[in-house]
Amino acid sequence: MFINHGDYSNIMSEIIKMKCPFCKEGDIKVLHIKASYSETRARAASNTKTIPVYHKAKEEALSDCSKCGKTQKEMNRIFREGKQVSCKDAVKRAEESGLPTKF
Ligand SMILES: [Zn+2]
Repeated sequence: MFINHGDYSNIMSEIIKMKCPFCKEGDIKVLHIKASYSETRARAASNTKTIPVYHKAKEEALSDCSKCGKTQKEMNRIFREGKQVSCKDAVKRAEESGLPTKF
């Protein structure tokens, strides 16, 4: 009987390769943790409620960027804040929503 622990760990997370959020050129290794639900019990007065807790998917950088030299720490800050650093994207979004784009 074989138990493949490797498969099991892939259920909740996987290691993916993605472009560096800073320079968009270098490849970085990222641990992608999938969104999940867990339950927590809250005791309110007389009845006990089960409250589902949603855990958002998150990314964690596992390597530094070889192109621009940004560190895992800096990548993780971007992932946590969910910010896009590209101003081009912002211009594009503004154009799509019909706003004047003078930067
Ligand atoms: Zn980079």
